[in-house]
Amino acid sequence: MTDTAPVIEIRDLHKSYGQLEVLKGVDITARKGDVVSLIGSSGSGKSTLLRCANLLEDSQQGDILFCGEPVSWKGTGAGRHPSDRKQVMRIRTNLSMVFQQFNLWAHMTILQNVMEAPLTVLGRDRAEVEPAARAYLDKVGIGDKADAFPAQLSGGQQQRAAIARALCMEPKALLFDEPTSALDPELEQEVVRVIQALAEEGRTMILVTHDMKMARDVSDHVVFLHQGRIEEQGAPARLFTDPKTDRLRGFLSSTL
Ligand code: ADP
Ligand code: MG
Repeated sequence: MTDTAPVIEIRDLHKSYGQLEVLKGVDITARKGDVVSLIGSSGSGKSTLLRCANLLEDSQQGDILFCGEPVSWKGTGAGRHPSDRKQVMRIRTNLSMVFQQFNLWAHMTILQNVMEAPLTVLGRDRAEVEPAARAYLDKVGIGDKADAFPAQLSGGQQQRAAIARALCMEPKALLFDEPTSALDPELEQEVVRVIQALAEEGRTMILVTHDMKMARDVSDHVVFLHQGRIEEQGAPARLFTDPKTDRLRGFLSSTL
């Protein structure tokens, strides 16, 4: 591991589900402090790419490097799997995911939700985790909801709890998969503001979103995925104002 290597580097990644090739050679790099947004139509492979990046899914070809450390594989092609369980755990716990559907545990309070993985997965002490968890809940603006259950919160509050839970792992990067898609428009903004604040404090993030305004406002780099390939990428100021490809132009006009 080195400090200068990108936090996440994906090179020529290929992923198939059976006969269906979903990722056809994708390269993505997120350096420390970068916010990289992934945009593209439904089915273009955005979620699959995030899930491959943190090894929730196997991929068949290409490299994934975490802080310069390449994932070690055994087997090839459809038989390829990560070979080092400790490495998988290290990568998964350092790339925390925030999902569209929050995925909070309904039977646990918000505080318990936030503390669960640091306690059980990282084996940290409760005396150390609880104040951190409360501080992250304060940070996302729901410190007063620590003892509530998820069903007692609005969607926006639940998603902010899910972000606090991801932060409490103290990951090297956050991976967001359409974090505002399940929310009513009036609740979207409270989540966008939290993501914006995280971007401003220099968090490394990969953000899959259908919200072009958020992508434009928070990203350093935007990647447009089309049918499992990068069709176009660039700085948001250029990409959104001067798309070079017909596909990106078409996609952007369909999202207006
Ligand atoms: P996006 O997030 O861009 O909407 P996905 O990565 O979810 O796209 O899906 C890309 C393609 O892979 C789609 O055709 C989808 O149907 C397919 N796919 C996703 N997950 C699976 C799975 N577990 N099994 C089979 N096909 C899948
Ligand atoms: Mg998706």
